[in-house]
Amino acid sequence: LQSYLENIKERKDLNAFLEVFENSAKEQAIAVDEKIKNGTAGRLAGMVIGIKDNLCYKGHKVSAASKILEGFESIYTSTVVERLIAEDAIIIGRLNCDEFAMGASNENSAYGPVRNALNEDYVPGGSSGGTASAVAAQLCTVALGSDTGGSIRQPASFTGTIGLKPTYGRVSRYGLIAYASSFDQIGPIANNVEDIALVTEIIAGGDEFDGTASSKEVPSLTPTPLKQKMKIAYIKETLDTDGVDPEIKERIEQLVNCLRADGHELIPVSFAYIEQMVPTYYVLTTAEASSNLSRFDGVHFGYRSNEAKGVEETYIKSRTEGFGDEVKRRIMAGTFVLSQGYYDAYYTKAQKVRRLIQDRTNEILAQNDFILLPTTPSTAFELNSVKDPIQMYLQDIYTVQANLAGNPAISLPIGKHSNGLPFGLQLIGKHFGEKELLDTSAYLM
Ligand code: GLN
Repeated sequence: LQSYLENIKERKDLNAFLEVFENSAKEQAIAVDEKIKNGTAGRLAGMVIGIKDNLCYKGHKVSAASKILEGFESIYTSTVVERLIAEDAIIIGRLNCDEFAMGASNENSAYGPVRNALNEDYVPGGSSGGTASAVAAQLCTVALGSDTGGSIRQPASFTGTIGLKPTYGRVSRYGLIAYASSFDQIGPIANNVEDIALVTEIIAGGDEFDGTASSKEVPSLTPTPLKQKMKIAYIKETLDTDGVDPEIKERIEQLVNCLRADGHELIPVSFAYIEQMVPTYYVLTTAEASSNLSRFDGVHFGYRSNEAKGVEETYIKSRTEGFGDEVKRRIMAGTFVLSQGYYDAYYTKAQKVRRLIQDRTNEILAQNDFILLPTTPSTAFELNSVKDPIQMYLQDIYTVQANLAGNPAISLPIGKHSNGLPFGLQLIGKHFGEKELLDTSAYLM
């Protein structure tokens, strides 16, 4: 803990932590030490873990990196944090992110951008940019993020770390500040597959406080050697396009050939909905966000405008002053697609396309163990370089499939670009197939 606390001070420029829980972390460390001496310590004894600032931890502040939650303190602890602490992990602090987890560069935080630990002129990705940069810079051992459309995997790809988005329903969302509830999942970023496996196993499983958390049994996720050769589908279109950096494509092709040489079957498949992926995702997630974020009204939580008189004005002024531009853009887009005149044209239509994407994903996975594709079309970009929101949304082109379909997906660091930055490979697994996904990840690493 001490050495991580020192690293955090040394790398203050990264702006990865919004707050370090120095006191509670030290108390936890002392208590764990005692348990280790007594032989009663849990399975994460002493593991130092950071949490994205959209996870509640009783008695500690939580802001979703938004001004609208300024000063708000959690009144209960999220299930994931509860489970980590029950196994004697040490929670070191809350990590910066895009406001309400909306973004792909971590430039949308009300508390300033996070910088990429590997090159501070570049973004770490988002929205779990603090999570990824902290793990890459050794500011904690593991950190939790949330992934609605790639927010764990894309920052992992940009920082040379490993990030897992579990199956929708594998991990309880109780105590996660909601962005788009039918997409959101909590998951870890770490520097090795074993840590990902252990933390996922501990946070996974049914929860009486989240009706969408599956009570399906959680197997041991500790990676074990592969028992048989794999059958992996790779999406042809992702290698046939100018939209993906040539060095990333080349590295993936090389990997496909290596795996073939090792006796695995690699099957090129076509995925006809790539163009529809990002629009479908943004119609549905903005709709859900506009509804989820209606609770931030200046009355119940956090920030309240000083200027306002009366209830109506309190709502309007608090929201106007409290939310950032990207969040407002999404609330408006979501309200629009849900409005009476446009509901069928946008929302209902997007639900139908979501079903087509789910069906095709499951069809491929009925015949193959995994789907392989790039995590991102490029490596990290320079801070302040992507100004057009649509351009930023296109960052998510290869990550949203797993959220639209609910499947588990992992990003593994597989190369370094000639620009010096890392990039990831993505594997999508079958529903609740975290064990197979992690075994294969360990094999590939
Ligand atoms: N970049 C995507 C978005 O802005 C993903 C965010 C996320 O997964 N939380 O919505």
